[in-house]
Amino acid sequence: MPHENFLPLPQDAIRDPVQWNSAWEVLLRGELAFPAGPVIAFDTKLGEIETRHDVDERLVAYQELVAGTCAVQRSITAEALQHFTFDDFEAKWMNAGADVRGKHILNAMADVCSTAANLNKARVYCAPELRLSRLRLDGKVFLNLLKSVMHDDASFIPSRPIYVSHAGWDMWAAGQRTRNSSEAMKAALAEILILRTKLICHVVQFTMRSFFGEDPPVLFVQKEHKSSEKAKNPRRSQQRAELIQTFGPDAAKIRAADEKAGSKARISQRVAHCSYLGCAKSADDDSVKFPRCKRCFDKLQRQVVYCSRACQMADWKLRHRAVCGKPLDFETASQVFEHPVSAPSSHSRIGPPVDGYKRSLALALQVTELNLHPTVDYCLYDCDGELLRYDSGAESYAQVVFRRRRELAMTTGHPGAVALMAHFLCSVFLSMAAGKRRGITSNMIVAQFAREYVMDDVRELVLEAQQLQDADPLHRPPLLSEASPELWGTIIQAIDFSNIVVTLD
Ligand SMILES: [Zn+2]
Ligand SMILES: [Zn+2]
Repeated sequence: MPHENFLPLPQDAIRDPVQWNSAWEVLLRGELAFPAGPVIAFDTKLGEIETRHDVDERLVAYQELVAGTCAVQRSITAEALQHFTFDDFEAKWMNAGADVRGKHILNAMADVCSTAANLNKARVYCAPELRLSRLRLDGKVFLNLLKSVMHDDASFIPSRPIYVSHAGWDMWAAGQRTRNSSEAMKAALAEILILRTKLICHVVQFTMRSFFGEDPPVLFVQKEHKSSEKAKNPRRSQQRAELIQTFGPDAAKIRAADEKAGSKARISQRVAHCSYLGCAKSADDDSVKFPRCKRCFDKLQRQVVYCSRACQMADWKLRHRAVCGKPLDFETASQVFEHPVSAPSSHSRIGPPVDGYKRSLALALQVTELNLHPTVDYCLYDCDGELLRYDSGAESYAQVVFRRRRELAMTTGHPGAVALMAHFLCSVFLSMAAGKRRGITSNMIVAQFAREYVMDDVRELVLEAQQLQDADPLHRPPLLSEASPELWGTIIQAIDFSNIVVTLD
């Protein structure tokens, strides 16, 4: 493995992105390729951990990487769901051509890797995924990579990230885990796997932003190790000797100075970010100083800063209480708690899908919208593609039974539940005044449900539901078939469903 001193530098990414990328690609095809690459990378990482203090430092960093990756994946999901649904992302990306795609991906990689030394170095672990030639030639490769890091609900920051899967890395990591590993080995392995995923996620998000002409996101990066700490490192002098041997004394000196200057410049650009994940505030002005957690700093010199007392309290409840002032062990460091992105509500949230059920992108967007707007029962697209948020009446009988079916449909894809909801909504919208309906027809509702639940027989199932309603002596839509005659009497005083007949083209 080339020494970290021989890797392309983060500042090269800005000076000459094309050259910087080629240098990386040569390494990734050669010394860093599978199967030798991961083994050497792991040994190097492990070699950086020498004392118990190092382990603690690594675990603190690891915990932040996990939390940061969860937050990035949440925002990728929210942005991508919008782009796929409303901006025709898939078709635009596929039609853009390799050169355009390549330009955005290279910009993104250079932007991300120039920001932090650890992200630049993490390309060591991304040999198969971040190869520009692969990503640009076939548009599908990037889209699949993007979809692989999306969650199925963007209404909260999830408690664990989705790791980017790769047969080689997965097999190798599983082998490492079965060994009776020390805390240091666990920390080294965990750091590699999370850095790998984090870098890929950042590149994906930067690429998407660049493609749609949007500003790059704010990158939350960790502090770099101070060079004084590096000087104490015994491997340092050996690395310097190798550097001189490879480049010659003059070039080695220039390179070392360059590296140092780059690191200094990056550190000077660092801003303190509020440690509460639900807050995006940063102290980007030198005059602003965030107060830090006293106990963490006094006991462990750990920097945990908050923009306000409110953020400190919120983080304490969710996350910090478990780790404040205590040395971390691996298990604790791996835990991140869910964070809502809007004010939590008393309404229950639509749960995660059961194992084996994969939500479509359309359904993931629907779930996100509903969880962000807990009083809404369903979002329907009108003829202009705008969302209409339908609410069947707070705490009404119809709402209770509708939401029970909705939970089943959205967590398992249960076709019967999907059909009863679709039929009910068709009835409701047929009974509404034209203005409130906003041009939403039964055919549109059926088409939307077919997309969301990836079912091609929604139409037939809705017509079957209508037959059940026709056969019911009270003409109740099957979703409400358990309503007592008295209750039904009060329901149809508000909206008279009994004469509504759903027909479809
Ligand atoms: Zn804050
Ligand atoms: Zn603390």
